[in-house]
Amino acid sequence: MKNENLKIKNLQKEFKGGDTTCLELTERLLKKIKEKDGEIKAFLEVTEEMAVDQAEKIDKEGGFEGLKGIPVMIKDNILVEDVKATAASKMLEDYTAPYDATVVEKLKEAGVVILGKGNLDEFAMGGSTENSAFFPTKNPVDTEKVPGGSSGGPAAAVAAGMVSASLGTDTGGSVRQPASFCGVVGFKPSYGKVSRYGVIAMASSLDQVGPIANSVEDVTKIFNVIKGKDEKDATSVSRKSDFSKKEIKVGIPKEYFVEGVNQKVKETVEKAIGKIDSAGMKTVKISLPHTEYALACYQVIMASESSTNLARYDGIRYCSKNDQGKSGKMKDAYIKNRSDFGDETKRRIMLGTFALSSGYYDDYYMQAEKVRELIREDFRKAFEDLDIIITPTSPIPPFGIGEKIDDPLSIYLADMFTVPANLAGLPAISIPCPTDGLPVGIQLMGERFEDEKLLGIAEKIEKIIVK
Ligand code: GLN
Repeated sequence: MKNENLKIKNLQKEFKGGDTTCLELTERLLKKIKEKDGEIKAFLEVTEEMAVDQAEKIDKEGGFEGLKGIPVMIKDNILVEDVKATAASKMLEDYTAPYDATVVEKLKEAGVVILGKGNLDEFAMGGSTENSAFFPTKNPVDTEKVPGGSSGGPAAAVAAGMVSASLGTDTGGSVRQPASFCGVVGFKPSYGKVSRYGVIAMASSLDQVGPIANSVEDVTKIFNVIKGKDEKDATSVSRKSDFSKKEIKVGIPKEYFVEGVNQKVKETVEKAIGKIDSAGMKTVKISLPHTEYALACYQVIMASESSTNLARYDGIRYCSKNDQGKSGKMKDAYIKNRSDFGDETKRRIMLGTFALSSGYYDDYYMQAEKVRELIREDFRKAFEDLDIIITPTSPIPPFGIGEKIDDPLSIYLADMFTVPANLAGLPAISIPCPTDGLPVGIQLMGERFEDEKLLGIAEKIEKIIVK
């Protein structure tokens, strides 16, 4: 694995052995960012001064345990006090966060060094980071390709060795898919395991914060710090699972290996499954019959909830312009101020507003909620007899920058294997498979709230598939 030296345990060894100080490491990475990020463009902002201050403080304190001294990036839809939080939107171009998101507060308490904010698709809507209102990010593995999205900046920064780890958000795959495209590990916890307080909302029943890093061990370490009940997020819980079982049973759903999945992706994932089977985990073919409806169901629920959440950007509560329009009429002000949204965001607001409108609500939103329950039920039944489910993370490998920009539908299709976990609230992780070409990720899904068990199994599988 690349970036071996930036793995948390290796950095800890260096700190403890006195080979490097936290300040030296921070300065080394800031230099690397200056050299590399002109091309990759993973950062929307580098918080140099804050990082140096933090590093100096940490060196004074010493005691390099846990995440102390570890350099990280935070996706720009997560609030870091006194730092801009734009969500890669013109709407929030001048917005500075007045407080820390709970996840950031917890990371700061653990002593991480925040090097900056990561690029994303505007309001996390997209799968390529090309919908950022500021600039697209490039995939460090092949700079002609997209890094995936919407957490393209956080995944690219880890892959390029500019940080050890990052925080992303995942509403329909935005942590796992970019991790898969950039050849790193990305974990979406169960809905409710991690607080969403201080995270700019996209679709509130699907959103979850998740770590991206160089190994399963590292995402686990970060997850263990950020998880837990938070009084400020009523949907958060403090449930914990154990992982002690020796015999592991793995389900392979036939609906995820259908025609249309890229041949190379299919072969790579099947090869990994072969290794898992030979290593003694029992793999069985299963069916999740409602999979084919997951994407349509996601589109309706995601767009509906997003349109509601984005209603707050009205030029009165949040907005960069605050332009009242010529006439001084409310409608003119709305039109002026809301025109700052990008095309993809507007598309989703219109779709969601339509799906929620009177006369259509039952046909779309309610219908989607019913289908969502069937999808949950598919998983509930499957997990009665299984420990985890394995699929490809994305049906396609990283595509060219600009290649799909005029074809949003084909980008939506690429989400079909990641959205079911969000709809059902399940934990899911993407791990890179060995390939001779572009990165391919394998996705492991676990039972709701069995995050610790999933991560335990994932660590075993990570070792098995690289052999
Ligand atoms: N790519 C998906 C979408 O465009 C997922 C987005 C996300 O998880 N934030 O909706």
